[in-house]
Amino acid sequence: MDYNTIIVGAGFAGAVTARVLAEAGHHVLVLEKHDHIGGNAYDCLNDAGILIHQYGPHIFHTNDKDVYEFLSRFTPWRDYQHEVVASIPAENGRAQMPVPFNLRSLRQAYGEEKAARLQQKLIDTYGMEKKVTILQLRENTDPELSELAQYVYDHVFVRYTMKQWGQKPEEIDPAVTARVPVFISEDCRYFQDTYQGMPLNGYTPLFASMLEHENIEVRTGANANTVLTFHDGKITFDGREFTGDVIYSGPADELFDCCYGRLPYRTLDFRFETYNEDFFQTHGTVNYTMDEDYTRITEFKHLTGQEKPGVTTIMKEYPRAYTGASDEIPYYAIANDETAALYAKYADKAAEFPKLHLLGRLAEYRYYNMDAIVAGALKLSRDLVK
Ligand code: FAD
Ligand code: UDP
Repeated sequence: MDYNTIIVGAGFAGAVTARVLAEAGHHVLVLEKHDHIGGNAYDCLNDAGILIHQYGPHIFHTNDKDVYEFLSRFTPWRDYQHEVVASIPAENGRAQMPVPFNLRSLRQAYGEEKAARLQQKLIDTYGMEKKVTILQLRENTDPELSELAQYVYDHVFVRYTMKQWGQKPEEIDPAVTARVPVFISEDCRYFQDTYQGMPLNGYTPLFASMLEHENIEVRTGANANTVLTFHDGKITFDGREFTGDVIYSGPADELFDCCYGRLPYRTLDFRFETYNEDFFQTHGTVNYTMDEDYTRITEFKHLTGQEKPGVTTIMKEYPRAYTGASDEIPYYAIANDETAALYAKYADKAAEFPKLHLLGRLAEYRYYNMDAIVAGALKLSRDLVK
């Protein structure tokens, strides 16, 4: 095939752009350095026959109808509404408290009587069904709401955030903790989006279906950095000048040999454990907000709905700093003024190549959910088609 577009990465950014461009008649080559498609959303059966998410638990949720309808062309869905509890030490063992912290969590923490008073204050101040970030709640000067803010900070946020980011909630980008606000509601779901669920047969079949097109060639086990070069405003592929579009969804710094220094990230070590029992825990995800070295445990059978009696697999997540070692994966961009300035240097360098497009969580150095990536990919590819 004579390609007129090269796409780096077979995650959502790469696969969605590949599909839209292929349907518009472009001939697309997708280069993926892993030996599989799907990026971070890749799932597969483990040795025990359990469908696992290799790179962390992925639950699809969006309010964007266009995104939902586009993906629905490639998969049926399993209705799944994610609920999370925090496991916290209690007088007689451990207690489980709904996260995001909500009116049920409030009653659990304070008992019916005091909770009723606090609930009224919350409703009067912020409104029923409203979301308030922990940092906003901490600014409240009412003595009882201030005490509540401290309780939520101590029981839900400070330890978990220290584990995840190595910094306190007030030291990181406020948008990060705003993802899990205090919710003045009885709703125990982690997300309130209109469309939520899991691809019925898993994410990898969704990707396979999306990439299955006569105008798409996918090469896995192919590191683009060894075949694509970017010099003096010219892109070369396999030693020859390439004049088509290149959509790059890998880390922006690696594209230019980290010439301005590495962009910092947090990475995760995942520990999988398989047990000979039907279920290990009550919820899809249990957060360890006050103790343990891991942040959370996810049990896949809750998410996927897989029916497999007598065996189950869980995953523990251990966050740490990304060093750039070849066996590490950069998972979370660290948003602050310094990293924004460093990223801007790479974006400026990329702009020297008019046919080069940075797209995705790594290439844009942003904390994006899957739906935001799909939306961005639809926009870019439709613009290119125009
Ligand atoms: P990726 O999925 O990272 O894909 C990029 C691809 O590019 C990778 O396959 C990589 O191998 C490849 N690549 C990189 N460099 C090169 C190169 N030089 N040559 C060839 N290939 C290369 N979002 C949700 O909406 N819901 C969730 O529940 C959720 N849970 C998450 C849990 C965790 C632990 C993490 C880390 C993220 C989670 N996300 C979730 C976010 C989601 O993973 C991302 O939004 C999405 O995967 C980003 O897609 P992408 O295509 O931008 O990047
Ligand atoms: N967070 C927390 N305690 C929790 C859940 C979340 O402190 O029980 C904070 C933490 O800083 C985390 C952020 O909120 O990084 C966003 O949480 P989310 O569950 O959205 O993280 P993700 O699933 O993207 O890793």
